[in-house]
Amino acid sequence: MLLEKFAPMRETLAALAAGGAMPFGARVDRIDSATEGVVEGHPVILAGTNNYLGLSCDPRCIEAAREAAARWGTGTTGSRLANGTFAEHLALERELAAFYGVPHAIVFTTGYAATQGMCATLAGPGDVILLDADSHASIYAGSQLSGAEILRFKHNDPDDLARRLRRLGDRARRALVVVEGIYSMQGDIAPLAEIAAVKREYGAVLLVDEAHSLGVLGERGRGAAEAAGVEEEVDFIAGTFSKSLGAIGGYCVSRHEVLEAIRYCIRPYIFTASAAPSVIASVRAALRILESEPELRRRLWENAERLYGGLRELGLPVGPQVSPVVAVTLGEDRAAALDAWRALLARGVYVNLVVPPASPTPASLLRCSVSAAHTPEQIDRIIAAFSEVVGGRG
Ligand code: PMP
Repeated sequence: MLLEKFAPMRETLAALAAGGAMPFGARVDRIDSATEGVVEGHPVILAGTNNYLGLSCDPRCIEAAREAAARWGTGTTGSRLANGTFAEHLALERELAAFYGVPHAIVFTTGYAATQGMCATLAGPGDVILLDADSHASIYAGSQLSGAEILRFKHNDPDDLARRLRRLGDRARRALVVVEGIYSMQGDIAPLAEIAAVKREYGAVLLVDEAHSLGVLGERGRGAAEAAGVEEEVDFIAGTFSKSLGAIGGYCVSRHEVLEAIRYCIRPYIFTASAAPSVIASVRAALRILESEPELRRRLWENAERLYGGLRELGLPVGPQVSPVVAVTLGEDRAAALDAWRALLARGVYVNLVVPPASPTPASLLRCSVSAAHTPEQIDRIIAAFSEVVGGRG
């Protein structure tokens, strides 16, 4: 009885497996570089990886990981509070704080733990969390765990946020506003200048998840808050090491000293093992590259503009603005979307198939993520494959 509810999922999975290449959890057989590999038996251009700066395969990051594994072993075997903090974790926290120009930073084992943990801990019963309606699952999960009242405001709509804060009256001062820098599905950017102004007017606290914008936006690559010139107004910035830094892990930085007390209250920090020193060492190397090679960001945007422009010229419905996440919206026919994803794979292009509820609307998406490591020729091959597969009928 307990397990009956999984019957529809089992049937869906069986049908997917019978139909050919598996779109969810596609099997990566080989990685040749940041942009090429073999997926489900097909040699492909990798365009569904979030490897924005191409650093997952950078020899300097790989060497840093190798050296750290030799020095510290393969894992920490426990949490930082219970079992000890390694010098690597402390060094990365210092370097992240310096990168953002703030005094405080916490390193988490995953990006999910960072946003979920911060949302669940910053607000509690009696408080209010205002979420952008298109927020990532980790933000929803943390908000639900917090025990705070959850209010959703319209995606990227500062006026709707202001309306809801106004209705809260004095309670607005106990409100946490959570938004993302770049939204992971459509690649659109939060209007942070307006959102920060609203937060200031109502005395709320603002957390920005820069998961997809670290290394992508801002003069120094610090993200959407830097690009909008409102870092002073953002109380907490969270993010991940799994995208532009090419590894795994998460972080939260803040100018507020209270972050050091909060650290001792975050369950996904206290009760989970800390990241392996090899992972932390590769992140440190990647952060140095992110800081010292702004040309990576320039190449990333050239590639993003080439892909976005090329797909739009084909008449395909791409997102509202250029960014390294370029998604083509298909119809609501999931079987057709699956066919299109498989046809792209067969033509040597690996992208992400996104279906509801992961997509923000009832439509499915073919979501590409661009990398600084893509060559213009690879971008053109991606466009050509889209032209053959969905050209004119997106
Ligand atoms: N926040 C956002 C906005 C994300 O898109 C993701 C990952 N897709 C996460 C948090 C979680 O990060 P990670 O996968 O590194 O745990």
